[in-house]
Amino acid sequence: MAKSLAFFQGKIVPIEQAKVSVMTHALHYGTGVFEGIRGNWNAGRDTMYVFRMREHYDRLLQGCRMLMLDIPYSVDDLCTITEDLIKASGIQQDVYIRPLAYKSEELVANLKLHEVASDFTLIIVPFGDYIESDGAISCCTSSWRRMDDTIIPPRVKISGHYVNSILAKTEAVLAGFDEAIMLNQDGGVSEGTGENLFMVSGGKLHTPLVAENNLVGITRDCAWTLATKELGMEVVERTIRRSELYLADEVFLTGTAAHITPVGSVDSRPVGEGGVGPVTAKLRAIYAQAVRGNHDDYMHWCHPVSVEPA
Ligand code: PMP
Repeated sequence: MAKSLAFFQGKIVPIEQAKVSVMTHALHYGTGVFEGIRGNWNAGRDTMYVFRMREHYDRLLQGCRMLMLDIPYSVDDLCTITEDLIKASGIQQDVYIRPLAYKSEELVANLKLHEVASDFTLIIVPFGDYIESDGAISCCTSSWRRMDDTIIPPRVKISGHYVNSILAKTEAVLAGFDEAIMLNQDGGVSEGTGENLFMVSGGKLHTPLVAENNLVGITRDCAWTLATKELGMEVVERTIRRSELYLADEVFLTGTAAHITPVGSVDSRPVGEGGVGPVTAKLRAIYAQAVRGNHDDYMHWCHPVSVEPA
């Protein structure tokens, strides 16, 4: 039986013991930075492939710098902690790995980052599909605008800024759509609520600039690399207007949880033929091999962890 464990206050403990006080700064103010990393189980090799783990921890530590979260771990330490927790848990299936650095001080009415204690915790949970759909999903343009870098820096995963994503996702799902696409204040396309966005048009791949208030997505980088190397496509980073999505040949979203997800409609208008377009289908298939350690050219993206059942 796999065990539910957490890394908490410097050691691995049963998940029930990983508890914080109601006084915790991060609980009140969203002063945390997290990551979402996938561990993909390869049953043929009895190995968990942790996908692009170093890049996720690089981004976590960038977020820590922004929020003055002082945690005593390097990227190497965080990778070792993750590997140790996976092995100790004995989970032999796909997992979601959730590291969280947070302001742990038990104080209320303290609106600053400096001289406020920080801590780091890590949990691992079994995880399947994030967006359940074999085909293409339906998206709407959210009435909630993507928050700007002048409000909360969106390029890293700051806990508090997920209120913006959650408002947009909730609105979309309650209105019958699968996902929301958020625009910036000036109407430029930013991203999904937990995914970056790409559009196929004129034989090229187009994606909004990071300066359009996107998270600097790791799957975005994978899709970009695969499109260039495997499909010989040019990738253009530029401002995209909402109406361009209606006229695109294909639109897809990228994210650790969402993988490469085809978008079949935007605001009830079919994108292209309304199904899974050919570029998206090819990228999705190569990406699915790469994340599970089944593509020789992309093994450097996979960190292998051999797991004995607990
Ligand atoms: N944008 C947002 C807002 C996200 O939460 C995520 C998921 N981490 C992404 C984009 C995609 O990033 P990544 O590919 O690094 O998971």
